Amino acid sequence: MTTNHELFQRARQLMPGGVNSPVRAFKSVGGEPFFTARADGACLWDVEGKRYIDYVGSWGPMIVGHNHPAVREAVERAVKDGLSFGTPCAAEISMAETLGRLVPSMEMVRMVNSGTEATMSAIRLARGATGRSKIVKFEGCYHGHGDSFLVKAGSGALTFGVPTSPGVPKENADLTLTLPYNDSDAAKALFAEQGPEIAALIIEPVAGNMNCIPPVDGYLQALRELCTQSGALLIFDEVMTGFRVALGGAQAYYGVTPDLTTFGKIIGGGMPVGAYGGRRDLMEQIAPAGPIYQAGTLSGNPVAMAAGLAMLELVQAPGFHEQLAARTCLLVDGLQSAADASGIAFTTNAVGGMFGLFFGAAKVDTYAKAVECDSASFNRFFHAMLERGVYLAPSAFEAGFMSSAHDDDVIAQTIAAAREAFRTLAA
Ligand code: PMP
Repeated sequence: MTTNHELFQRARQLMPGGVNSPVRAFKSVGGEPFFTARADGACLWDVEGKRYIDYVGSWGPMIVGHNHPAVREAVERAVKDGLSFGTPCAAEISMAETLGRLVPSMEMVRMVNSGTEATMSAIRLARGATGRSKIVKFEGCYHGHGDSFLVKAGSGALTFGVPTSPGVPKENADLTLTLPYNDSDAAKALFAEQGPEIAALIIEPVAGNMNCIPPVDGYLQALRELCTQSGALLIFDEVMTGFRVALGGAQAYYGVTPDLTTFGKIIGGGMPVGAYGGRRDLMEQIAPAGPIYQAGTLSGNPVAMAAGLAMLELVQAPGFHEQLAARTCLLVDGLQSAADASGIAFTTNAVGGMFGLFFGAAKVDTYAKAVECDSASFNRFFHAMLERGVYLAPSAFEAGFMSSAHDDDVIAQTIAAAREAFRTLAA
């Protein structure tokens, strides 16, 4: 039998860190990653045959569970007609119509192949449309690995302690202004000083790359007002929150309308996809309708569209998001009781189908507080859970994701594992 260890040894010779995306390597939590052989429903199975209840969900897209038959069958049907055409296809229109219907601010859409591409393109559009160069992002937020975003970035960049990556020119980084998340006064002060130079403010409306931190009451509204007053565009990066915190995303959940929105993985149902869109007057400036250039050979790929459309059909089932949110609450409440029973300082955040686990006693509503939490305890908890067949994101700075395949039984198994895991931490 091939073991995880053997595969990781081989992988490390061939790929940087043995992986194709950094956080997967377990560098932050220590140890070695497992290699998945197959996935179904709420679970992954590694090459050694061990089962894990999965709260990563391919980092978000598997909101209806892994290998859902309706998504798989849609892909199988699409594959029969060919893998890529390089011409327009009807499924792209269905996707644009679906996105626009579910998220009304998406008056026009451009499909791309990843979240990174979506945010990079949205920023180019914002700069092209406003004639301004500066962008504003938030400390601990992650918007993919585009040069402009690797400044005080979250996710893997935060885990690895490289807030600004070598290779990002200083001149480029200088155009990215950063703000503390959930601090309206800091945003007001920055806009008072530099408002007329700001092309766009981009935000994860629920931060999911510094663990999970929801916006405080009125915060997104305040940012909306600042952008409107200064002529900067408000971009919601809904790569994580889209179709997850509510059917209409965070913009529906909080009732704030951005000018542009970016989506990623979730709208591909597991296939490589992203999209950006929003106000028609802005999107009409994208090539070939307008002068702002952006393109993609595989964009609007028929197989990816089929997977995404099937997935988006499933999340429209009546009560889907209410049930997802209820299950998320059941999980985090259960974990909280388990931690309390062992006297471990622990707190959680949850919005819809995403959640955060923090090793600290105080509620976490800022990046500074997230960073102060005890990541060594998280790492021990991560491994204690992994041993017991529960896979949490391998970093203290990633959100957790619920799926509709996580039923009461799976959640009860998770809480039972956590009870033991917290006990080992307390011992
Ligand atoms: N934006 C957000 C909010 C994300 O969480 C991510 C990735 N997790 C991205 C953008 C980048 O997406 P991708 O990895 O598909 O490039």
